[in-house]
Amino acid sequence: MFAPKMLKLCLSGLRNAFLQRQVLSATAARLQHSQSKQHGEPVHSTRPETSSARTLMEIGTRRIFTKDHDLFRQNVRRFFQEEVIPYHSEWENAGQVSRELWEKAGEHGMLGILIPEECGGVGGDVFSAAVMWEEQMYANCSGPGFPLHSDVVMPYISNYGSKEQIERFIPKMAAGKCIAAIAMTEPGAGSDLQGVKTNAKRDGSDWILNGSKVFITNGWMADLVVVVAVTNRDAKTAAHGISLFLVQDGTKGFQKGRKLEKIGLKAQDTAELFFEDVRLPADMLLGELNKGFYYLMNELPQERLAIAAMAIASCEFMFEETRNYVLQRKAFDKTIAHLQTVQHKLAELKMEICVGRAFIDNCIQLHAEKHLDAPTASMAKCWASDLQNSVATRCLQLHGGWGYMWEYPIARAFVDARVQPIYGGTNEIMKELIARNIVNQK
Ligand SMILES: Cc1cc2nc3c(=O)[nH]c(=O)nc-3n(C[C@H](O)[C@H](O)[C@H](O)COP(=O)(O)OP(=O)(O)OC[C@H]3O[C@@H](n4cnc5c(N)ncnc54)[C@H](O)[C@@H]3O)c2cc1C
Repeated sequence: MFAPKMLKLCLSGLRNAFLQRQVLSATAARLQHSQSKQHGEPVHSTRPETSSARTLMEIGTRRIFTKDHDLFRQNVRRFFQEEVIPYHSEWENAGQVSRELWEKAGEHGMLGILIPEECGGVGGDVFSAAVMWEEQMYANCSGPGFPLHSDVVMPYISNYGSKEQIERFIPKMAAGKCIAAIAMTEPGAGSDLQGVKTNAKRDGSDWILNGSKVFITNGWMADLVVVVAVTNRDAKTAAHGISLFLVQDGTKGFQKGRKLEKIGLKAQDTAELFFEDVRLPADMLLGELNKGFYYLMNELPQERLAIAAMAIASCEFMFEETRNYVLQRKAFDKTIAHLQTVQHKLAELKMEICVGRAFIDNCIQLHAEKHLDAPTASMAKCWASDLQNSVATRCLQLHGGWGYMWEYPIARAFVDARVQPIYGGTNEIMKELIARNIVNQK
């Protein structure tokens, strides 16, 4: 069920009478829904799964959601349509989105959904966070680094931060006034995270941070960066000597490098970060000393679930985009949708996406119940991101030469898909994690 703050935000976002009427009727339907629950009727009997729905992006589908989530989804969908889609090309040229967008997202209650209200977050559930992940992909707008900010970085602070750190940063992050990044990867250490060289040494009660990071999402715009650094070189393993630090933009010695030019995610600012004798007071250590690696391992399943959920949502977007295209594109006097080979391709795509959707919805449900384990999250990430790339290739092919043109949405979806098997831990590393669990279970 929705946190009160979330429902309020939902309603405040509805600017016209038509939408307000929709809310009222949805609320009535919700009441009916909860009454039928009390009377022992199947609660979700009227919600079709995507395989039976008219389109794969239809609002009101899937048993993991409720009417409340549908309302929120309408709000988020409209937000992307009005505030993101019209400006995305401009942001692609700039290599970043606007600060204004972040603040608008904050005003609409779209940042920090999973962070408890008492910490200054929205206090929503995993399903609402999933709505955000999905709607961003349905809008085909990869620019805003909201998922990384809200569902990757903010939980480090709310879960491991001191009361003072939570009060200082979380409300500003939820308002979109403090953009966050996490800096693990280095030029010489990506998959092998234990090989990081960035280090922090004590100087009295302060820490002196030195090193560099690369490929950091939100890195250029970041006001706050969670930095992974070695704090004990003599630990029994490298994992026992790693800590997390909070570094604010403007701190002396902290420099941002260039915005990196990527083949996709054009409107997302990905940057190099440099730390040269950055003096950090003791209260910028996040959590306990030398527990950083343990915290990273704890939080990565949620990041991997988000990648998986975004991957399958992108598949759904690409499928609908392609369905529309083949229904209007003519060849040999008929639309290409008349060709049996094209129809079979669509059938294969739909089957694979709907099967994938069932597994990812199951993972979302498991995570909501706090039962999503690390190997299952790795399976979701690996499988869904590989599917996304396979769907992208096939859907682009069905667009012919037009699919290769940037003005066609499928082109952007295709290049954006390519990074998904790479970040959040490569898919080869996902297989390592899955395999380790298989052989260690016996
Ligand atoms: C657009 C983008 C955004 C990113 N955002 C962030 C961010 O916000 N924060 C952050 O910290 N990082 C971020 N990254 C970094 C990302 O997580 C790393 O690129 C990724 O973990 C891989 O590390 P690497 O690039 O050093 O590749 P490497 O580790 O050098 O891997 C190269 C190849 O070797 C394979 N390989 C390596 N080790 C093994 C093994 N043991 N078994 C089998 N195969 C192996 C890999 O799978 C890969 O195919 C981002 C990257 C990109 C491209």
